[in-house]
Amino acid sequence: MVKKKDYTNGLPDPTPLIEDILAKYPRKVAKKRDKAMVINDPEKDQEIQANVRTIPGIITQRGCTYAGCKGVVLGPTRDIVNIVHGPIGCSFYAWLTRRNQTAPAEGEGNFIPYAFSTDMQDENIVFGGEVKLKEAIREAFELFHPRAIGVFSTCPVGLIGDDVHAVSREMKAELGINIFGFSCEGYRGVSQSAGHHIANNQVFSHLVGKNDKERIGKFQVNLLGEYNIGGDAFEIERLFEEAGITLISTFSGNSTTESMEYAHTADLNMVMCHRSINYIAEMMEEKYGIPWIKVNFVGATSAAKSLKKIAEYFDDAELTAKVDAIVEREMAKVEAVRLAVKPKVEGKLAMMFVGGSRAHHYQDLFEELGIRVVSAGYEFAHRDDYEGRKVIPNIKIDADTRNIEELTVTKTENPALWREDLVAKKADLEAKGYAFADYEGMMPQMKKNSLVIDDVNHWETEKLIEFYQPDVFCAGIKEKYVVQKFGVPLKQLHNYDAGGPYTCFDGAVNFYKEMQRMLDTKIWKLVDTPWKNEPEIVGSMTIEA
Ligand code: SF4
Repeated sequence: MVKKKDYTNGLPDPTPLIEDILAKYPRKVAKKRDKAMVINDPEKDQEIQANVRTIPGIITQRGCTYAGCKGVVLGPTRDIVNIVHGPIGCSFYAWLTRRNQTAPAEGEGNFIPYAFSTDMQDENIVFGGEVKLKEAIREAFELFHPRAIGVFSTCPVGLIGDDVHAVSREMKAELGINIFGFSCEGYRGVSQSAGHHIANNQVFSHLVGKNDKERIGKFQVNLLGEYNIGGDAFEIERLFEEAGITLISTFSGNSTTESMEYAHTADLNMVMCHRSINYIAEMMEEKYGIPWIKVNFVGATSAAKSLKKIAEYFDDAELTAKVDAIVEREMAKVEAVRLAVKPKVEGKLAMMFVGGSRAHHYQDLFEELGIRVVSAGYEFAHRDDYEGRKVIPNIKIDADTRNIEELTVTKTENPALWREDLVAKKADLEAKGYAFADYEGMMPQMKKNSLVIDDVNHWETEKLIEFYQPDVFCAGIKEKYVVQKFGVPLKQLHNYDAGGPYTCFDGAVNFYKEMQRMLDTKIWKLVDTPWKNEPEIVGSMTIEA
């Protein structure tokens, strides 16, 4: 049994681990992967390589562009029929695997549990699939009568040149509902991140601003980059309601396209997952003058800070009093559980390789329990997600980035929709030190000597486990069982396994208890790692004459 390392006096220098990882790679691969690994020093400005293509042959955690567009951004919206134009295999991502929840009103449609696919066959690849796509749109319309239909392109569609946008326009004219397409072929970008950007562009072009609805609340906000996994958005909504904050639209957990159409009537945009949806926040500011702030509702302390930041923005005595009362009441409940759980898990080691914000947000929850994050990284991040938005002007624009359309957004020509009051409010608050449109990134928050790795792969995962012997590993389903066979519990942070919600105060309590259940047990020591004694499967081949 290897003796567990003691990191009470700080994390060890992981240079030998990096050398060990790189030694196995061919020279060119080692050179490239070296740039994706940073020994963190929060006092320094450090650069990490991110958002570059995974080297063929390496087992990556990443998904494709279509998965980011359909699976992540549009998947949780309940009143749109999302048709996947492609072979049925791609539709794994059409059937929600992220446990997005939604709460339709009585009698309201909910298409989330369905998987719509054109199920392309060989003949459609040879002769084109547009006719089949039109038939699928008509069939979906006749069966479900949705208010909108989205068409998602998969790799073969791009290769044969089916024009999903022309078909969508034609069908929109024929059926009289909002129908629009996404050029989100799997190969189009480096990862799902490209799909997020494509989804943002089309949601902004075809939905946002289509309904200038009258105001419905005193403090109107949108929440961007919250996907209601395991009921996360319900926790946030409940607290907003109590405080008197009106949530106009969430992009896109527990959402409707209808609410997205009047999202431009909000007074503030709040960005939760910076990577997947900051584009819409920026475009809404350009067009309507609505400012945006970064928030984080994962972790009790972060949720409290975010609520207070919203109250500070609106600067209303009644709202501030309500928020303060909620925070005080909820923090007392959270503290009781935290103090009971902390002694059982304090000092344990965690590593996290997920998403484009989660590997950062969940560090707050681990910190609250005294669990050390020894290594972390994102699956599909860009440099600003690690280093902060200050590096955006220095990020090299490569061919992959140019492949994604950058919308030119200008100020609305309708003076009634331009929010001069919000522009003035932003200037006033900025002068007082209030931070808008900013995101610090993950690295400044991480401890000295923690190892930051972008797009971690299977080989690196094995070496990380060997070196750190973590007590919990957070990643996704592809990593789950292999990590658990090492005797290390894996908590899925894409879909939370069967758990959640983990946002706000009740969410923090859920997470604390989940960590106690996973870490305060000896069961993992009993795992008999199958390859420990027989690390290789040896085979032989006989050629018969
Ligand atoms: S990479 Fe292409 S073929 Fe594979 S799931 Fe994504 S869209 Fe479909």
